[in-house]
Amino acid sequence: MESAVLNSLSQKDNQRLKLLKSEIEEARDLAIGYPVSKDFDISEISDFLQIPINNVGDPFEDATYKVQTHELEREVVAFFAKLFRAQPNDYWGYVTNGGSESNLYGLYLARELYPKAMVYYSESTHYSVKKNIHLLNIPSIVIRSQENGEIDYEDFENTLRLNRHKPAIVLSTFGTTMKEAKDDISKIKGILGHLAIQDHYIHCDAALSGTFGAFMEPRIPFDFKDGADSISISGHKFIGSPIPTGVIVTKRSNRDRISKGISYIGSLDTTITGSRNGHSPLILWYVLKKQGIEGLKKRYQHSLEVAKYCEKRLNEIGIKAWRNPNAITVVLPKTPDQIKDKWQLATEGDISHVICMPNVTKDQIDDFILDLATCEEKREEEFEFEF
Ligand SMILES: *Cc1c(COP(=O)(O)O)cnc(C)c1O
Repeated sequence: MESAVLNSLSQKDNQRLKLLKSEIEEARDLAIGYPVSKDFDISEISDFLQIPINNVGDPFEDATYKVQTHELEREVVAFFAKLFRAQPNDYWGYVTNGGSESNLYGLYLARELYPKAMVYYSESTHYSVKKNIHLLNIPSIVIRSQENGEIDYEDFENTLRLNRHKPAIVLSTFGTTMKEAKDDISKIKGILGHLAIQDHYIHCDAALSGTFGAFMEPRIPFDFKDGADSISISGHKFIGSPIPTGVIVTKRSNRDRISKGISYIGSLDTTITGSRNGHSPLILWYVLKKQGIEGLKKRYQHSLEVAKYCEKRLNEIGIKAWRNPNAITVVLPKTPDQIKDKWQLATEGDISHVICMPNVTKDQIDDFILDLATCEEKREEEFEFEF
């Protein structure tokens, strides 16, 4: 279709775009501190960006607007439902704008099911959860974390006991943001059972590690069979996507209890936003088809190998680096600012981390280690005079 606006960009604007592109490409190639895969290629489907796709409404229902990718969205949800061992006849979900929206949905569903509940989450929980709980106005209690970032089960049990007259919503994390620690859902489930709290809901925030959780040996309990009622992941993290995206998978029986029909869109208004990104389901579908289960497994094994290598090399130069079991995240003491800035290392308190996403190579780790070994910490600001 031809555009009605025929202006072409000025030379100056073209220059700016060129510069911007080279700047962000350079930044991309050095980023090893955030969980973002960069090894996708979607040039085969880039034509779709010329189409105003909108997945408004429930992906499992017919809608009036037909410029949508609901069918692929359903397949993406089904892929994760299977990977997370949901009941084949009792799952539902949709492609969100990221793990944060997926968490919001899980908590929203839980609150609708148990309006008088208390939410429990550990101090290592992602910041989106605190915001979501605030938005939903649910009372909540923070549980201590262990040194490795995993929830402190004893503190959880003691806190829960004091509130056992209330329904419990537990926000467990499978792969915390800083240390990639994994809360064990079977232990959480066991504690709920032990205290006989029947009205409970477990949402599993598996933003990064959910995509490869099924391939871990030994497994760490996190999925529907282990006791989760909903699971969220980020699509742009381990899978990879040019646009931030995520997936929420829930039980269909639960979502049925909160759905409302909207005649304007001819569908059910079951999702958080109105208009919804229709390119993200297409991209996730495409990348998952290209990688397949075997590809995902291989990517995880590669990441794990690079993470082990990174941990070992850091230890060799005298830096106390460590990893949680099965983790692709290497935790290390906070690095000097020049290293933090160049390699874009997320830092919190006195720790920092390197996340060995599938595109990170041992060569890149070698460059990073060399930088770190040869870097001289800038001296703290000092007064220039002496008395
Ligand atoms: C990244 C992350 C999120 C948020 O996901 P977005 O896709 O960035 O919205 C939530 N929880 C955890 C544990 C994360 O690591």
